[in-house]
Amino acid sequence: MKISVLTLFPEMYGILKESVIGRALEAGVFEVNVVNIRDYSLNKHKKCDDYPFGGGAGMVMTPQPLHDCITATDPGHQAVRIYLSPKGEHLNQKKVLELSKLSHIVLVNGSYEGIDERIITLDIDMELSIGDYVLTSGDFASLVVINAIARYIPGVLGSESSTEEESFADGRTLEYPHYTRPQEFMGLWVPQVLVSGDHKKVAEWRKEQSERITKERRGNK
Ligand code: SAM
Repeated sequence: MKISVLTLFPEMYGILKESVIGRALEAGVFEVNVVNIRDYSLNKHKKCDDYPFGGGAGMVMTPQPLHDCITATDPGHQAVRIYLSPKGEHLNQKKVLELSKLSHIVLVNGSYEGIDERIITLDIDMELSIGDYVLTSGDFASLVVINAIARYIPGVLGSESSTEEESFADGRTLEYPHYTRPQEFMGLWVPQVLVSGDHKKVAEWRKEQSERITKERRGNK
């Protein structure tokens, strides 16, 4: 899978070199292609923003650099093009799984007050939000999207890690609690069932805990 990221802040993606994602990128399990939108600006100062028509606070990203950058990155519109936006569809685990099955996605990141609406009309397939709050740029959201998608790409997580038993694997249920050594820590003991060696009882306990936590924290929806 290939993820193209269109941004005014390419350095922000240095963090992808770390940890399991970094190892998977190094091994070529998937590809992240970071593209600087500014490189496509025809303005002699490489400007990519301008004042909003109608007035008001802040600047708006101009259409020309974005349009040229998107069409150069995805000629013939083969990829799914996503604009990260607080006004977009909410990201959830189901959406992450769907996106992980695509061969190429293009993540378009806004800054300032956002991008010229005509780019959304002309070039974007989907607007995606990571939650009902406002970030300074889409890059923070793109990093979340890339990380969540990468976990579903075969070969990214070690064989010991499974996405099947985690929170949201069925769309809503939260995971059971985890414990590791030592058995007692500051007077708190690991639940006896987990050290009983009875796999059936362990599975039952985990299922009960998952249901309890989901009901307590997410209600009966
Ligand atoms: N003026 C916009 C509004 O009120 O909806 C907010 C613009 S925000 C300061 C700058 C950029 O950050 C946006 O263009 C978008 O790409 C990104 N962004 C901000 N919040 C986001 C969120 N919750 N999810 C995804 N992207 C977000």
